[in-house]
Amino acid sequence: MKSLVKEHEAPGFTFKESENPTPDKGEVLISVKVSAICGSDLHIYQWDNWAKGVGIKVPGISGHECVGKVVGLGEGVTSFVVGDQVSVETHIPCGECELCLNGNQHICENLTYFGLHTDGCFAEWAVVPEVCLRKIPDSIPEEIGAILEPLGVGMHAAQVGDVQGKKVAVLGAGPIGLYSACASLALGAESVYISDLKQARLDVASQCGDFNIFNPAETGLTDVFGDSKADVIIETTGSGRAFTEAVPYLKKGGIAVMVGLFPGDISLDLSGLVAKEITLRGIHGRRMWETWDLMEELLLEGKLNVAPSITHQFPLEDFEEAFKVAINGEGVKVLLKP
Ligand SMILES: [Zn+2]
Ligand SMILES: [Zn+2]
Repeated sequence: MKSLVKEHEAPGFTFKESENPTPDKGEVLISVKVSAICGSDLHIYQWDNWAKGVGIKVPGISGHECVGKVVGLGEGVTSFVVGDQVSVETHIPCGECELCLNGNQHICENLTYFGLHTDGCFAEWAVVPEVCLRKIPDSIPEEIGAILEPLGVGMHAAQVGDVQGKKVAVLGAGPIGLYSACASLALGAESVYISDLKQARLDVASQCGDFNIFNPAETGLTDVFGDSKADVIIETTGSGRAFTEAVPYLKKGGIAVMVGLFPGDISLDLSGLVAKEITLRGIHGRRMWETWDLMEELLLEGKLNVAPSITHQFPLEDFEEAFKVAINGEGVKVLLKP
């Protein structure tokens, strides 16, 4: 089969023929229809410090966001039948630790990741553990099915921010920021602000919903918010500067949902947050499966207008071009078709 392989602990991928995989006990074989490039794939492609430190399988097939059809079942698999349209939840829980047993399997103590620690979906076929495969309605188009994993992060962020009736400020209009803004709107936020330094991303955001869009390099936050502050900040940039500059515009009793990963330490006036009774809340991935249930419901009701986020599509063999577009920020969500 055609595949994108991380062959060595060095930058780049190799497009090559790999052996067709077969499902073991508890695994499902899927034929991949569409996959999507995630921010973490860019790190793996560039082989930066983050990629070097997370135990990536090398050599191994990369990619974790995808939609496909079930074509084969390993021993003991009972939740799927051949022909099901499926998407993949990247988090592979152990099913045995305290967190798993208490409904928090998305942050399992022994978490491993599909497409990082296992072979992933930048290929014609992929083997997925039954425990992290998700059957999705046939009425969800393939291109949308391929982005449910990152959309779920935005959904989870908006849910944790308890955004209904609130004024929400989303920092960053990359895929996760954009999906957080779309989810906030779908969940009934009173108003949604979204910022980015790249105009192309703000243009895409304006096609997805009625957001208050601003470029912090051009418009100061005081001008954006005036006297009224935000109830919720959803931080997706991973930029210490973006976050610390936004914090003073969070209301007393507000919540900052932390999604972006910061490359280093940041300096923050914690006493100021204490006095304002601010909640800082990290999220990681999506709840299994409450986030997926809600996301599907809202998609089927037409409340999540995320199609404009898919700015580019390439055949798998043109991956170099696809990664270039994704890395330089020209594209928001870039898809690959095997
Ligand atoms: Zn992802
Ligand atoms: Zn566990």
